[in-house]
Amino acid sequence: MRFLSSMVLWGALCCGASLTIAQPVAPQLQWLGQSAFRITSPAGKVIVTDPWLRANPLTPPQFKNLEALGKIDVLLVTHGHTDHVADAPDLAKLHQVPLYGPGDMNANMVALGILPPVLAPRFNKSGTVEPAPGIKVTAVRAEHSSPLVWRNAQTGKDETHAGGEPLGFIIELENGFRIWHMGDTGLFGDMKFIAEYYKPNLVLMPIGGNFTMGPQEAAYAARELIKVPQVVPMHYGANPLAKGTPDQFLGYMKDSGIQVHVLKPGEPFPLTSR
Ligand SMILES: [Zn+2]
Repeated sequence: MRFLSSMVLWGALCCGASLTIAQPVAPQLQWLGQSAFRITSPAGKVIVTDPWLRANPLTPPQFKNLEALGKIDVLLVTHGHTDHVADAPDLAKLHQVPLYGPGDMNANMVALGILPPVLAPRFNKSGTVEPAPGIKVTAVRAEHSSPLVWRNAQTGKDETHAGGEPLGFIIELENGFRIWHMGDTGLFGDMKFIAEYYKPNLVLMPIGGNFTMGPQEAAYAARELIKVPQVVPMHYGANPLAKGTPDQFLGYMKDSGIQVHVLKPGEPFPLTSR
């Protein structure tokens, strides 16, 4: 209901007399491979998550050029693994947009000179930030790990530093539509609590296995714990060890009543309540 009434409000704004009010746009989601997404909000804000783009085998060529990604209003990183944080510091500096990630990962990014403090704000689980007007992001639990690997320019060697605790994010758009980006996670019982408390409309869920939930665990999470209307699988197809496939996931989700949207990289997907 909240989402529908917000849509009416946006419609009213659209047709109002003032030309200074931003025109609403159709909110959409684009999967860029692994856990990287580009989300366009109803007010035209662009949210980018876990931008592993230049070296990601699934990222369409047009998104490998960081400048061609266009403006970014909100930049989110779930944890310190390279397949999530890779291009985030460069994007933060390119757009002068803060990188929101685990607070202790960001503290080490500042200590190592990867980002200045203004681009590495700190928050942690249950914390909610508003990185752009009307966009609220809450950090929630993910069951994973989060080392921060950094190439020391003086020695030429990789060093592993503490990257805080891994996160998932509840991303609430201006119209109240909520997306749960689960980050990398194994199965845990409090997924049920997170779903009950934050009531996401759509969940971005890892299914590749080996490092995260596989298709069977992800389907259990969706069917038994989260019970969300819509699911988009992610974190598969880019690492040979993560062998889970969308077809396997769809098999376990059969007759669940939950809509599973398997996206092609770069394909725009409209964000609506269903
Ligand atoms: Zn990962």
